Amino acid sequence: MPNPRKPEREVITTCAYCGVGCGFKAETIGDEIVRMTPWKEGKANHGHSCVKGRFAYDYWHHPDRIETPMIRKSIDEPWQEVSWEEAFTYAASELKRIQAKYGRKSVGAVSSSRCTNEEIFLMQKFARAVMGNNNIDNCARICHSPTQFGMSATVGWGAASQHFDSVLQADVIMVVGANPTEGHPVFGSAMKRRIREGAKLIVIDPRRTETVDSPHCHADVHLALRPGTNVAVLNSIAHVIVREQLHDPEFIRERCEWSEFEQWAEFVASDEYSPENVARIANIDAEDIRRAARMYASGPRSTVYYGLGVTEHSQGSTGVMCLGNLALACGMFGRDGVGVNPLRGQGNVQGGSCLGSWPHVFSGYRFVTDDATRESFEAEWGVSLDGEPGLRLPNMFDAALAGHFKGMYIMGEDPVQSDPNQNHIIAAMRNMECVILQDLFLNETSKYAHVFLPGSSSLEKDGTFTNAERRISRVRKVTEPLAGYQDWEIVVKFMHAMGYEVDYAHAGEVLDELARLSPAYSGASFELIDRVGSAQWPVDVNAPEGTPVLHREKFPRANGRGTFMLTGFVPTRERVSELYPLLLTTGRILSQYNVGTQTRRTANSQWHAEDVLEMARDDMDARGLRDGDLTQVSSRFGSTRLRVKESTRVNAGVVYTTFHHAVTKVNTLTGDQSDWATNCPEYKVTAVDVTRIDADDTPEQGVTRESELLEETS
Ligand code: SF4
Repeated sequence: MPNPRKPEREVITTCAYCGVGCGFKAETIGDEIVRMTPWKEGKANHGHSCVKGRFAYDYWHHPDRIETPMIRKSIDEPWQEVSWEEAFTYAASELKRIQAKYGRKSVGAVSSSRCTNEEIFLMQKFARAVMGNNNIDNCARICHSPTQFGMSATVGWGAASQHFDSVLQADVIMVVGANPTEGHPVFGSAMKRRIREGAKLIVIDPRRTETVDSPHCHADVHLALRPGTNVAVLNSIAHVIVREQLHDPEFIRERCEWSEFEQWAEFVASDEYSPENVARIANIDAEDIRRAARMYASGPRSTVYYGLGVTEHSQGSTGVMCLGNLALACGMFGRDGVGVNPLRGQGNVQGGSCLGSWPHVFSGYRFVTDDATRESFEAEWGVSLDGEPGLRLPNMFDAALAGHFKGMYIMGEDPVQSDPNQNHIIAAMRNMECVILQDLFLNETSKYAHVFLPGSSSLEKDGTFTNAERRISRVRKVTEPLAGYQDWEIVVKFMHAMGYEVDYAHAGEVLDELARLSPAYSGASFELIDRVGSAQWPVDVNAPEGTPVLHREKFPRANGRGTFMLTGFVPTRERVSELYPLLLTTGRILSQYNVGTQTRRTANSQWHAEDVLEMARDDMDARGLRDGDLTQVSSRFGSTRLRVKESTRVNAGVVYTTFHHAVTKVNTLTGDQSDWATNCPEYKVTAVDVTRIDADDTPEQGVTRESELLEETS
């Protein structure tokens, strides 16, 4: 509940939960945060917020917070509390020992979209300048890496082409694989407002989500496709557009290569993508495909918002390209109210992508293989840098299992809980000799860690976030870090322990450095953000206060033109069978955030005591299941237990769950399929079987697990 006491101090900062990036006024009395009030001047939220940013902030001083560094020589030993200096010295000596024994590339680093731009930038600097390799990745690998790849291929930049307010000028809104009313609620409200004003809504999603059907939000067309068939359906929409001549020849001739369009048009117009053929593949109505195509193409201002239901597939990058193709074909770029916009899950996924936490590119998406780029970083950092791309996150785990990757520095991530095929990740973790974890709480990954560096929450640090509309906003320190240091300071002190000397007076100097090295951020500074509130990149000499709408005159590609990609549909290898007859897909709910590390430590957990399995009545009847029954859910990769709940939101043959509780262990089910281009895991399609369990011996969800983790520290 909001605290009614009169605050002594107010600090404007940015919500760290979802990619909307709402501005908040944090109100304090002494060191106590008594209220988070949505900031009226916040350009992403205009004074609105949801129940996460507004109420779920108490986690920052939850008793589970670890405030003292800890080390242990083996994961079978109890943690030992040590000083910061001892922790840094031990961690540095271990990384150096491993590199001396197994080679420079036997260690790597992982950063997180929960971190600020400055921390993400410093983590890639740690890997490149301090560890001496490009083994750096971030959690966007497992969510929006296909956005980067797919959008770069078609229009040059892997980022939203619009600002959020632009939805208020859209005539047709197409939502693909996303549920903004739950996952991005403040944007979802703006979208609903536009729908109430008369905009048409097309939703492509296996589930009848709240976006499809809830008060004030009804889809005009809902394509409840079979999980894994996005590309076929989007190609079929393109098929109708081309066959019915609904495309925009003037835009295509002016902004694209006509010959490329012709090649693509011939490809999508083939009978393979006829609505009748695709309707069979995707288990939807052919006429609905036609209605969606006509609606989108006729606009006149049509816009696309998409989420992990597009990216987390074996054809995730192809799905993103399909969306770019459609928008190019119909002239839906470069104006207000049109565009293609990824809805980023975490607060700083866009920053995580922009700032070089990838094994192949520096900040600003410039390749490590490019000599001139590398030289500019070498000049700034004073060391020579590796010109060979490093390992992606899944490849780091594979290399650990193979025995030649032995050390990992992880900031703000819990891969054991978050990454697919949990048993595989655990085996890889066990094979490493030094795992260094920097986080707020002990988590599933900490069970396999050797050094724990207590991190700081977004309320205890300075920096910036870049939200889903490319908006760079300030994160301001509201209260002192409980463990003594802000995360960026911890990374710098760890650099010193490794023998790399660098100093920053404050986080703004890190932003200054990354601005010097990242063209789209070249005009960004604390001074600018303090003056204008926030700014959407590119922020540079041409746009000193930012760029709300991308691609107005040309696309950021070598020839300035958008290009059409041939997006053949290749069915996933993850298929139903006699043993695994149902397809499991996953998503989030309004009150909780991702794996629940923060929200489960607030009163928001009362809204969601456990994850449940949603199932259609027919599938329940076939298994003799009733609401509330405990079930064993099994896939080819593992099994877990969930209570079942009848749902009209899923079709027969599809089941759905959230993943907010560690005890749910959904990622014991998910497998090793991933996007062909980026290795983003195929979380959204897992063939499973569901059977009733008679004995109710499941542990209490959530709370029990954390108590166990804490006991391990004693
Ligand atoms: S979770 Fe997202 S919508 Fe909710 S307050 Fe935070 S940024 Fe805004």
